[in-house]
Amino acid sequence: MKELEFVETEAEELKAFMFEIHRKIWEYAEISDGEFESSELLCQVLEEEGFSVRKNVCGRTTAFIAEFGEGHPAVGFLGEYDALPGLSQEAGYPIKRPVEGAACGHGCGHSALGVASLIAAFTAKRYLEKTGESGKVIYYGCCAEEGEGVKPLMARDGEFEDTDCVFAWHPASVNGVTNTEMIAVKTIHVTFDGTTSHAGAAPHLGRSALDACELMNVGVNYLREHVIQEARLQYAYLDTGGTAPNVVQDHAKLIYGVRAPRIYQAEEILKRVIQCAEGATLMTGTGVRIEPRMGYSDVFQNFVTARILSDAAQEIGAPGWTEEDYQLAKAFTDQYNSVQKSEMEALIGRRYGTERLKEVEERPLDTKMDGFDEKQHFMIYGCSDVGDVGYVTPTASLSVATGALGTPGHSWFMTGMTGSSIGEKGLLCAGKIMGLAAVKVFKDPGLLKGAQEERIGRTGGIYKCPMYG
Ligand SMILES: [Zn+2]
Repeated sequence: MKELEFVETEAEELKAFMFEIHRKIWEYAEISDGEFESSELLCQVLEEEGFSVRKNVCGRTTAFIAEFGEGHPAVGFLGEYDALPGLSQEAGYPIKRPVEGAACGHGCGHSALGVASLIAAFTAKRYLEKTGESGKVIYYGCCAEEGEGVKPLMARDGEFEDTDCVFAWHPASVNGVTNTEMIAVKTIHVTFDGTTSHAGAAPHLGRSALDACELMNVGVNYLREHVIQEARLQYAYLDTGGTAPNVVQDHAKLIYGVRAPRIYQAEEILKRVIQCAEGATLMTGTGVRIEPRMGYSDVFQNFVTARILSDAAQEIGAPGWTEEDYQLAKAFTDQYNSVQKSEMEALIGRRYGTERLKEVEERPLDTKMDGFDEKQHFMIYGCSDVGDVGYVTPTASLSVATGALGTPGHSWFMTGMTGSSIGEKGLLCAGKIMGLAAVKVFKDPGLLKGAQEERIGRTGGIYKCPMYG
């Protein structure tokens, strides 16, 4: 039996059912840690397929792990299913129009992300059943990627300890397995405690927590010049201490986030941010409490695993777009503003050559599938909790288009296209690729040779969970 043929046949058979699941999750559009219906639906279909499901993983209500089979190789897939606030959009409608009564939308395409991983898990499981090969399929139900993601906690709690590799993907506007890295992030809550007082009659008795916030921010703004260029320092006010200028504010709170290419770099810079907070307390006579919040490690490809995924991607190829898909994509890109349009043109230029710009602009869906080349390195200045998985088990990620070329991330464009036939074709393609990669590993476990050694070599074999600590 040809592996490619098996995967194609199974995935095509599952297609209608999977698109229905996708439509439901897309419509639920539940935000981080509130994905009750979405996670319940995924658990239900996994159980019906014969997976054993464990819920409330790491103490998170909407996180779960589903397993089938036993022994090795044990292959994992990551499912996400959280939506984003403010990004509701009618499915397949190319002009901004939120769904009536809905505020949230799948503007990062996580509805598709979770369902493609489901296709891959079902396909891999059915392959084990059919061939009687030994192995295990694990579907990780990863809640709240857009909030305080659960993957670092799963990594901390040893949920990947017996997993030989993980295949992941993310909806995108281009296709391929590339040597792309994403930066790490770590956030803290900073709460200043002061003393209230009449700001007019007795200001000398007050110690302002709001002043402390502002002085801390001044300090951090000077710090920016003296950190590595790739770092990002971001803050927001969570509490400004009240609305009355005639009351000295005795409480105020900030959230700070530091992003850097490696998690240890983010941690080092964060220590200096905390020193700015401490300096502000000296200047204002206030106290400060620091609470570590979310943290995601840097994302990198495990080359051995990425090559397996890339080979599968080359065999499956890009999604099979129809003429209607091209027309719909064009209707969406017609709505791009001038900056978005020039970003798209630059992307087409890089990918297809400027001489094909006009032609591709008329049919703006990616038809290429990039193969893995470790020498071609890219850095994305976004973050993902997939990084923490990569620290503890060999992990490779894939991009497949679920939207037009240049579709901005976290946008109504993404919500609208993910909910259309374009999103369906993209997720089906991603599901087939990850399914085929798993099947290849089950057929020849030797493909993973050197993957763990590579991971240990690149991480020092050390993982420190950046979440809440
Ligand atoms: Zn995402």
